[in-house]
Amino acid sequence: MGAITRAEDFYRPPPTLDPAAWDGDAPAERVIRWTEHHQQRRITTDPAAQAGELYARINHSRWVADCTCGSAQIVTPADPRMWCVVCGAGWWSLVFPADIDAVEESLAALPVIERNWWAVADPVFPTLEV
Ligand SMILES: [Zn+2]
Repeated sequence: MGAITRAEDFYRPPPTLDPAAWDGDAPAERVIRWTEHHQQRRITTDPAAQAGELYARINHSRWVADCTCGSAQIVTPADPRMWCVVCGAGWWSLVFPADIDAVEESLAALPVIERNWWAVADPVFPTLEV
């Protein structure tokens, strides 16, 4: 695990299962297994459903992406896509920075709460300008 938490670090099987139980699932799909277990419901996905493009960002030392429905989940550059487990909009394609290691390294010495990063090109990049 690097300095920044990724989906495959966070969405782990519960203690009642073998720790390797979800190793066969793609990293972007582990949130689906995790949500099914914690919310005790089935989530269906459609491989052909494409939702569009979202920028990944770092929030409190976690790679996250924000769905247009207002939900967010932890994501990973190892599998840059996201199925929103709240609204099921489709598979979002995620944009990560070209040099992920450099971005993570630039935050590594900061306290967890200050490890935040946004892509400047992200249309929802926060600004203090009015
Ligand atoms: Zn959503």
